[in-house]
Amino acid sequence: MALSQSDTEFLIRELTKELDAKPDGAGKNLIARCPCCGKEGKYGIYIGKQTVRKKPFMSHCFSCGRSTYSLEGLLDFIGRPDLMIAPTTDLNAKLGTTLLFPLEEGEEIDDALGIVELPEFYRRCFTHPYLKTRGFTYDDYEYFQVGSTRGLNFRYDDYVIFPIIDRGDIVGYVSRHTWSKDEIDRHNSRVRRKGGYRILRFRNSTENDFVKLLYNYDAVKEGVTDTIIITEGIFDVVALTRKKELYDNESMAAVATFGKKISRTQIYKLQSKGVKTVILGYDGDAVEAIKKTADELNAYFRVLIADIPDAKKDWEDLSCDEIDDIFSHRLRTPAEYRLLKVQE
Ligand SMILES: [Zn+2]
Repeated sequence: MALSQSDTEFLIRELTKELDAKPDGAGKNLIARCPCCGKEGKYGIYIGKQTVRKKPFMSHCFSCGRSTYSLEGLLDFIGRPDLMIAPTTDLNAKLGTTLLFPLEEGEEIDDALGIVELPEFYRRCFTHPYLKTRGFTYDDYEYFQVGSTRGLNFRYDDYVIFPIIDRGDIVGYVSRHTWSKDEIDRHNSRVRRKGGYRILRFRNSTENDFVKLLYNYDAVKEGVTDTIIITEGIFDVVALTRKKELYDNESMAAVATFGKKISRTQIYKLQSKGVKTVILGYDGDAVEAIKKTADELNAYFRVLIADIPDAKKDWEDLSCDEIDDIFSHRLRTPAEYRLLKVQE
């Protein structure tokens, strides 16, 4: 059942009034109190264009997991069947929509986080030989908290520790050994032969699942920041912030998802701050992961992909000129990207 533009606008107007709803940043969803569980701001009605997985007026509650898959289902759910516009018995549509919306069914978003203690003897630092080799400047130390345990906590000797901060609270940390991956691998293979302690490249917090965390989340200002760059790791965020001078730029921020994928909770966290445009900045070699993540983001945001020409380089390796070139000439829509990567 295709709705006309004026029918769609009428329905959006009526739903907004009925549910006291607000559009999200990209205008692709109406956000309201859930009619089922009563949770404020967790219930979304999709009002964007039809996509592979989304149909206009599907709805979903990120708190209780309640979903509706058709306009008819939505209007029944909110108790306003009188708003139904066209004849409704459409068996094909019903069959189609359960296939269109497979991930949302029964799904629940849990974004609750506990506060995490940093390793004992952690102290913030404003200069560090290892971070110097990775290009850290004075502004980086000021803007991004990082520290060490200064040799007082043997588990963290030779690590730098980055707290992960969410609405001002420490909700996790990433600690990175200061040796290169090659040095660590060499050491560990020596240990395998001769005995001794293996070195872990990362020794991270374990309390909150990392799928619920975003690095540099507090740089995304609710209702103000409209564009974010999504990267894989902390060093990408720091490099982009330095090279694109994002420190004081409230309209744009870089965040990291800790890997080449984004979770529903991370999407929800960005959507709830009103982000409109997402620039996907995963490493150039991650073509399949980029396509998949772009599809997932596309239902909630305007999505552009930073097409890094040299697949071996990440944001730390790229010069300011190369980065400027990517942002002015190589931002692709998901469709363009798909086409280009088939041809290459
Ligand atoms: Zn609910």
